[in-house]
Amino acid sequence: MGIDKPDVRFVIHHSLAKSVEGYYQEAGRAGRDGLSARCILFYSYADMARIRRMTQMEKLRREQERVHLDNLYRMVQYCENDTDCRRAQLLQYFAETFDSSLCQNSSTPCDNCQSLTPYRKVDVTDLVRIIVQSVQQVSRGDQYTLIQYACALKGSVSNKMLTSALSSLPLYRKGEKWSKHDLERLLHMLVLNDILSENLTIGMHDNVISYVKLGSKASNVLGGKITGMILNIKGKSSNGGSNGRVDKGQTREEQLKNECYADLQRQRGVTAAGLMLKNPETLISSLALQEMSQNLPTSKDEMMAVNGVTESNWRRMKGEQFLTITTEFAAKVASVQSESSKGKSPYFESTNPTPTVGKGKRKRETLPASSSKKVKVKLSVLMPAATVANIITDEEAFDQSPSDSFLSARKPRLMPPPQPKRTH
Ligand SMILES: [Zn+2]
Repeated sequence: MGIDKPDVRFVIHHSLAKSVEGYYQEAGRAGRDGLSARCILFYSYADMARIRRMTQMEKLRREQERVHLDNLYRMVQYCENDTDCRRAQLLQYFAETFDSSLCQNSSTPCDNCQSLTPYRKVDVTDLVRIIVQSVQQVSRGDQYTLIQYACALKGSVSNKMLTSALSSLPLYRKGEKWSKHDLERLLHMLVLNDILSENLTIGMHDNVISYVKLGSKASNVLGGKITGMILNIKGKSSNGGSNGRVDKGQTREEQLKNECYADLQRQRGVTAAGLMLKNPETLISSLALQEMSQNLPTSKDEMMAVNGVTESNWRRMKGEQFLTITTEFAAKVASVQSESSKGKSPYFESTNPTPTVGKGKRKRETLPASSSKKVKVKLSVLMPAATVANIITDEEAFDQSPSDSFLSARKPRLMPPPQPKRTH
């Protein structure tokens, strides 16, 4: 706070910022002299539980706590999204659009634009339904953490797994072809989208333990109201296909739906500005806009079926203007539908409402359990593109306290300061 030096070369976040706004301000202190600077953020999902616990201890009013939690979730989504341009993500948060090719072609591309690892879109709807059904089955019995669910999905054959109720749940081994990392990402996404939630409790050693339970939208998954959930996964599919950095594999229908989403966001920005709203998300969530861009409602009734659209916000956001956009794109999609057999709904993809995790050029390093945070920070400065990967075995996941096992992963994120509007 109060730093007014023009030649700050590094801004290093040792832990999560509590909000995207806060992060934007703090990162913006780098490179005010116009020269290159680096912003590095060390991210671990476990930090979210710690910050949530701290917020709970402040004993805020319910609405205040909800705002803090929303802000935190947005920040976690930003960190977990490792496919979309960081600058575009930040500006999208503030209802501005940014052409990510400018970042890709600049001398200081963000980590996501810098990564050449292709990614593909995976429809996870069926898997999510199985996960939700499984969590529902154990909700009245034993409690498990996200890591333990990830181990079960992977099909761990450790003694502890085989003797626990997890191994007899429908989800057991359903993700055995996935990497453990992607399974954890998927579970994180379910929490961030309120399909699962985490119940924080304090362990014997004053550590925060998060047990998984159903979230407020779990019933929508079970009832089939949420479909077409897509997760971006790095690497090529078994048939060699991947859509790569610039969506080369997108169908025309997917492109149109993405364009529709961008138009809906622009409209939201305009309406929010007219209402003097600082955060356009409070007008209508990005998640709802995504659902609109996928379902392309052509009537008010269809629009009202979108999660997050209510009679009151329909009036406030001037819903007809959004309906005009979706109707226009519905007509365009109808005309190309014969060419594209399956248009996927990126429930999980894109920036604000949905994240993605993983890292290009991952450098795996086994660190001793006692490795201090300082060591990891130093690593990131010397080798900023490296990721200190989470290497825990299935046995360790059970033996460690949940927060310890999460804390063993701390992933540096390399990104230049947000200077998207720089002109020279
Ligand atoms: Zn970028």
